[in-house]
Amino acid sequence: MAGISRDASWRRREIFRLKPEATESSEEATDSSEGVPESSETDAWLPPSGGRSKEAPAPTMTTADDSQSIPVQFIRTAEGLAAIRDELGDCSRCKLHGQGRKQIVFGVGNPAADIMFVGEAPGADEDTQGVPFVGRAGQLLTKMIEAMGLSRDEVYIANVLKCRPPNNRDPQPDEVESCEPFLFQQIATVQPKVVIALGAFAARTLLKTQDPISRLRGRIYDYRGAQLIPTFHPSFLLRSPGYKREAWEDLKKALGLLGRQPPSPPPAASRD
Ligand code: URA
Repeated sequence: MAGISRDASWRRREIFRLKPEATESSEEATDSSEGVPESSETDAWLPPSGGRSKEAPAPTMTTADDSQSIPVQFIRTAEGLAAIRDELGDCSRCKLHGQGRKQIVFGVGNPAADIMFVGEAPGADEDTQGVPFVGRAGQLLTKMIEAMGLSRDEVYIANVLKCRPPNNRDPQPDEVESCEPFLFQQIATVQPKVVIALGAFAARTLLKTQDPISRLRGRIYDYRGAQLIPTFHPSFLLRSPGYKREAWEDLKKALGLLGRQPPSPPPAASRD
């Protein structure tokens, strides 16, 4: 990538330097490339080299032409998610449908994922592409997922709101009230073992609290049959890379709940 060093030691140094540059209260979750300062260090994460974590193979079903084996759980939940998407339709349940949204951004990834990431709401890039977390913050999220030894295809990614608020303003309570039942259905269908709430807004909304993210993170919560880990939003980490170390601890904790470890070599943070 242009402007980014390919030197692994450089990446480790950038990621895990402890240099808090913003207070928790300054965190806002909605990503947009807009307003995010250009800096090579903000793009850094540490994708450790090495293979993926291992887990037992899922039961499979052979298709009629005998050419493919598809996990049964995957088919059941993919159909379930399709039904939820159908029910959402061309949603006009809240005012966002008339406030410039281009399309609904439903969710993406493995319908039977063990890990589900939940963000706040689509930004401009997501609104254009119809896929969550594809802007600059989304690219950082992808690096975070890869550092865990996973790919975007192996996890499920969704937002509390399915439509972009105008100018990326904060979601409003009536919008959350209209939209969150669909997120709850997504969670009930995917049945992730771990939900990672990205940022203060998602964490507060899911946990029904006004506590600051600084108080919420660092703990594990029982949540709708899963365990919920709040962490910092990638767009906050873009602005305040000094917090990546804490976010990495959260991601490792999520892997630990699944009996996994990140691929080796371990990130520099664990050695300094
Ligand atoms: N920020 C979010 O919270 N969600 C997205 O999909 C993109 C950015």
